[in-house]
Amino acid sequence: MDRATDPCTDFYRYACGGWLDSTPLPNDETRYGKFHVLRDRNNETLREILETTAAVASPTPEQAKLGQFWRACNDEGAIEAAGLRGLAPLFAEIDGVRDAAGLLAVAGSLQRRGVKVLFELDVEPDYKAPEINIAYLSQGGLGLPDREYYLGTDAGFVALRDGYRKHVERMLELAGAEDADRLAGDVLAFETQLAKAGLPREQLRDPEQRYHKVDRAGLSSTSALPWDAWFTAAGRPDLAELSLTPPSYFAALPGIVASVKPDVLRAYLQFHTLHTAADHLPSAFEQENFAFYGKALRGQKQIAPRWKRCVEITDRALGEILGRDFVAKRFGGKSREVALGMIRDIESSFAAGLPSLGWMDEPTRAQALGKMHAIVNKIGYPEKWRDYGSLAIGDDHLANLAAATAFDFDRRAREIGQAVDDSQWYMTPPTVNAYYNASGNEMVFPAGILQPPFFASDWPMTMNFGGIGMVMGHELTHGFDDQGRKFDGAGTLREWWAPAVAGRFEDRAECVDELYSSYEIQPGVKLSGKLTLGENIADLGGIKQSHRAFHQWAKTNGLDPRAEALDGLTHEQLFFVAFGQIWCTNASPETERVLALTDSHSHPRYRVNGPLANLPEFGEAFACEPGEPMRPANVCEVW
Ligand SMILES: [Zn+2]
Repeated sequence: MDRATDPCTDFYRYACGGWLDSTPLPNDETRYGKFHVLRDRNNETLREILETTAAVASPTPEQAKLGQFWRACNDEGAIEAAGLRGLAPLFAEIDGVRDAAGLLAVAGSLQRRGVKVLFELDVEPDYKAPEINIAYLSQGGLGLPDREYYLGTDAGFVALRDGYRKHVERMLELAGAEDADRLAGDVLAFETQLAKAGLPREQLRDPEQRYHKVDRAGLSSTSALPWDAWFTAAGRPDLAELSLTPPSYFAALPGIVASVKPDVLRAYLQFHTLHTAADHLPSAFEQENFAFYGKALRGQKQIAPRWKRCVEITDRALGEILGRDFVAKRFGGKSREVALGMIRDIESSFAAGLPSLGWMDEPTRAQALGKMHAIVNKIGYPEKWRDYGSLAIGDDHLANLAAATAFDFDRRAREIGQAVDDSQWYMTPPTVNAYYNASGNEMVFPAGILQPPFFASDWPMTMNFGGIGMVMGHELTHGFDDQGRKFDGAGTLREWWAPAVAGRFEDRAECVDELYSSYEIQPGVKLSGKLTLGENIADLGGIKQSHRAFHQWAKTNGLDPRAEALDGLTHEQLFFVAFGQIWCTNASPETERVLALTDSHSHPRYRVNGPLANLPEFGEAFACEPGEPMRPANVCEVW
C-alpha cells in the first residue's frame, strides 16, 4: 500500500503504491501485476509437473505425450539444426499460388495450422439456435494488432508501420526471398486494404453485427471467390452454412485479392507462416520476431526464457492432460465447495438488488431473474477431460506444434453442425482468468484463478469477497452487459427486453461510456469507453454484487476475527483493499498504448477507481467527502 496517498483521491495508488514501487516491470514482461505473479506461481507448478513427467521411466501414453512435447520444445539445439525444414511442405504449397483459387486453398490449409490469413474461422453456437454449432468467418489476416495501426496518421503509428515493413522485409530475407524490400512494402499495402475493409473493433461488440448467416450460394454471391478450395483445404467441403463477420469485409475481399500480383500474395502467406512459427524456429527468426513484436511494439526488453514459453505452449497444446496434475496439486480440500458457496452468495446478491433498479419494469426484471437462475457454473476443472488419443507427438518440436494445432482445429471443425457439447471448457485449468459465455449462459472459473491473492478456502471471507467475489460478480454481470443482455437465459440472441427498458439501459450504458472515455492513461492517450463498455459495466456490477454478498454473508456467519483491524483497516476497508490489490499492475508505456486500442478491459487503475468512485458505500468506508475524486456527486449505475 501507499499510505501517503489519500484513498479518497486515488484509491488504486493507495492500495497498490507500495507494490508498484517495489516491483519494477521484469525485463522479459510487457506488463506485470498480481495476475502475473499468480501465473508465474502456476507456471512453476506446471514446470515441476512437466519435468517429473518427462523423467517417468515407463510413462502412460498421455504422460509420454506430455514428456515428449516438453523435451522437444526445450531442445534448442534440435530446433536450430532443423532450420526451416518443418515449414517446407507449407512453403511448397505457397510457391504454387498463382491465382485466387490457389490462394484460397493455401489459406484453408494454413488456417488448419494456426496461420490466420485473410480471415479467421471460429466454431461457436449459432447465436439464434444455441444448441447447434456453426462456423463464423471473421475479418482478420493482419500482422499489426489492430486496423488503426494501418490507418492512424499520428507519428507513433507511422513509425510502427515503418518498423513493421522493415520487419516483414527481414523475415522474408531470412527465409531466402529475393526482392524482399519491394515485397514487404506491397504486403503492407495489401494488409492496409484488408484493414480498411474491416470494421472497427467497437462496432463488432454488437452481437447482431457479428451474426449474418448465409448458405454457400449466399457466400458466393456476397464474396466472389473460389470458396470450395478453402473449405476443402480446411477439411469441411460439406459445410452448408456459416455466419459472416461482417459481410461487407467479405464483399470487399475479392477486389483486394484481384488488385495485387501473385508474388505479393505469396509473400503475404510466407510472412504470416514465418510469423506464426517464429518462436519455434531457429534463433535468427525468433530474435527478429521479438525485436519488432516484443521490443518495438510492446517495450519488452528481453525475450522470456525458453522454459517459460514452453510451459505456456504445452498448456495450449495439451492443456487437459497437464491440467489434471495441476488440479491434483493445487486445487484440493474445500476449495471447490467454498467457491461454489460464494457463487451462490453472489447470485443471491444480484437477485436482491434487482427490485431497487428503478429503470427496469416488472416483466423484464422477472426475465432477468430467470436468466440468472439458469446460469450454469463451472468451477476448477472440466468434469470430462479431452481425449488426445489420436494426437501423435514425437521428437520434432515444430512437427509437434503443427500436429497439436491441426488436432485442435480438426476437433473444432468436426463440431460444426453438431450439437454443442456443454461440458467443454474454453480455458485450461491453470489459467489465471475466468469467463462468461453468453450462448451457454455459463460462468467458468478455472482452478488457476481460485488461488491467492484472489481466493483461499481458509482465508478470511472479507478478502475472498474483495478478491474472487468481485470476479464472480463481474462474470455474472457480463450476462447482462451491453452484449450479454441481448441473449436470453437459454443463450439465444433475441429481444427479451421491453423497448422502453432497453432504452433506459442504453442511457445508463452511455453514462459509463462517457465516464471511461474521460480517463487518460498517458498524456494524450485516452481509454475507449465504447471498446471497454461491457467490461466496465461488469466491473461496476461486480464490486457491487460482491460487496452486498459480503454483508449478507457476515450477517449470517459473523466476521472473521483474524481480519479484525488487519493493518489498521476495518473489515469494510479491508474488503476494498483486497479488491484494489488484485489489480496492481506495472506495464511498459508501449504496451499500455497497444492495450488502449485493442483490450476490451480498462487500464487497471480505472478497473479499481472507476467502480469504487461509483459505489457510494466505498466513499462511506473511507469517510471521503462528497465531491472528492473517489466520491463524485454524480455516479453511473447499471446493475
Ligand atoms: Zn470480463
